[in-house]
Amino acid sequence: MNIHEYQGKEILRKYGVAVPNGKVAFSPDEAVKVAKELGSNVTVVKAQIHAGGRGKAGGVKIAKNLDEVRTYAKELLGKILVTHQTGPEGKEVKRLYIEEGSDIQKEYYLSLVLDRATSRVTVMGSEEGGMDIEEVAETNPEKIFKEVVDPVVGLTSFQARRMAFNMNIPANLVGKAVKLMLGLYQAFIDKDASIVEINPLVVTGQGEVVALDAKFNFDANALYRHKDIVELRDFDEEDAKEIEASKYDLSYISLDGNIGCMVNGAGLAMATMDTISYYGGSLLTS
Ligand code: ADP
Ligand code: MG
Repeated sequence: MNIHEYQGKEILRKYGVAVPNGKVAFSPDEAVKVAKELGSNVTVVKAQIHAGGRGKAGGVKIAKNLDEVRTYAKELLGKILVTHQTGPEGKEVKRLYIEEGSDIQKEYYLSLVLDRATSRVTVMGSEEGGMDIEEVAETNPEKIFKEVVDPVVGLTSFQARRMAFNMNIPANLVGKAVKLMLGLYQAFIDKDASIVEINPLVVTGQGEVVALDAKFNFDANALYRHKDIVELRDFDEEDAKEIEASKYDLSYISLDGNIGCMVNGAGLAMATMDTISYYGGSLLTS
């Protein structure tokens, strides 16, 4: 299950991870009201959809005054945003996140994932953060560092420090980066996340280490013990047929082909799908 950036940042705040001040808005009036409350010189208007790549697609706007906040909010709300993660059909923007602008000195990449090969939570970090991390992974994989976490001990300060040094975080800010990483790890474990991605993590002109973006994915099998997370579900972001099926505890996946597939078990479903594709078919459901 995915949640919005603003919801992810709400969780991070509770774990002591530094995030800029901000609030969700559902209308241009609300956006202006939030911006007034924030009172920052620069305000960022961010489209909230369950997909990344918003910056490059024009979904992140920097506003220098309240008039600009209103203009951008009007422009984004109701817009179909097409990013490299939405597919060509795009996603309609129905919520905005209004956030104070950060004085970015440098953008880094930081994430936690469950690595299925080692069955361990793995921290990944790079000083090549920002909007092109996929390209870094392709062309300069050596610039992405990893720390594999022992499940008994958890992420240690030592590992977090080593990661901060590998990422070339300025020496005087390593302590802040370590605190952020440990908070992030605790959030990941407590909430049964399968991915937490902070891209970018930034160092600011004021010498702060801040999470500027937040992507969370939660393990669906653990949602039964996280009512607070289930409440964050945004049905607008999900397929109507999948929502209906989930009411009956059915794992229904909507695809765009023309062959339906009813199987018992995820492995069998994947193998059947592969076989059908191999013979030139395409699946409608699984
Ligand atoms: P996405 O990953 O969907 O493109 P991000 O939240 O990462 O969206 O934002 C894209 C870019 O916009 C960031 O890399 C950063 O440069 C800029 N940005 C985002 N939030 C802020 C902010 N609060 N202050 C200043 N710049 C921001
Ligand atoms: Mg991002």
